[in-house]
Amino acid sequence: MAGKTYRAVQVTKPGQLDLVERELVAPPKGAVRIRVESCGICHSDTVTYQALFPGITYPRVPGHEVAGVIDAVGADVPQWKVGQRVGVGWNGGYCGHCKHCRHGDFFACDSTQVTGINFDGGYAEYMIAPASAVAAMPDKMSSSDASPLLCAGLTTFNALRNSGARPGDVVAVLGLGGLGHLGVQYAAKMGFLTVGIARGKDKEKFAHDLGADIYIDNTTQDPAAELQKLGGAKAILATATSGEAMSAVEGGLAINGTMLLIGAVPSMQVSPLFLLMGDRSVKGWYSGTSIDSEDTLAFSARTGVKSMNEVYPLEKAKEGFERMMSGKARFRVVLKMGE
Ligand SMILES: [Zn+2]
Ligand SMILES: [Zn+2]
Repeated sequence: MAGKTYRAVQVTKPGQLDLVERELVAPPKGAVRIRVESCGICHSDTVTYQALFPGITYPRVPGHEVAGVIDAVGADVPQWKVGQRVGVGWNGGYCGHCKHCRHGDFFACDSTQVTGINFDGGYAEYMIAPASAVAAMPDKMSSSDASPLLCAGLTTFNALRNSGARPGDVVAVLGLGGLGHLGVQYAAKMGFLTVGIARGKDKEKFAHDLGADIYIDNTTQDPAAELQKLGGAKAILATATSGEAMSAVEGGLAINGTMLLIGAVPSMQVSPLFLLMGDRSVKGWYSGTSIDSEDTLAFSARTGVKSMNEVYPLEKAKEGFERMMSGKARFRVVLKMGE
């Protein structure tokens, strides 16, 4: 294997993506090497592309929606074997012994790393990942189907299943883009009375096709009032990228309802009186760790939840990245490695 190389697309310096050849190295202790089959291009990759993370060093290979096959295992990795199909998401592993880990808050680990930011990610034919960052992928799921589920899917699935809503409760998903089109599918499959909220009458059929029971067009209808007609939403999953759209939907929360923010907008308005009078809350939701990814993939394979993807070959990563940045992709952009 000495001297064997592989292709990777790296951010050589902020704002510059280059296709390069790298030498293949063995995984260190506690890590595995993955032959990457596909990697999603996520809006969060701009963190790497534009140096938006403190301490990030270059060159750096972006990509945190990685799906492939383990092809080498480092020392002290009892849980993974060569040949296993796996995925790696945003959470790049945790130590297992800091205070946060000991409390079960693995996502908040003191030495947490982010895939594609603190170490090289999946815009490449191979990558090395800490064993704690790895999730098993179901056999019947293709890698390109799995990739977006490791970030957009995981975030929406994990937020919904931790929202406090129970089957039959009203759950609203604000926004029907990359995150929202998955959120609606998960909410429907989880048995919630699912409400899709987006801009324009033209998205109504799409929302129903995804499984929404009810559609609210927030350009002509007041989403808060419409949700209150249903008794209020036990959970609102806010994926939208506009603070105004988020502010306008808060009033649709039921008593004890929770609004989960997974889209980072600069600011939004909340009514403290409305929250405190009904024991309601607005909270941010961190996506999840590797075991949550594993649950997301398994649930998706079982229930048929699928991301809609535009697929590009690795060498067209730059075009794929620009396509994602244009906001016009329907809905996620995925790099597929050549055989
Ligand atoms: Zn992402
Ligand atoms: Zn830790």
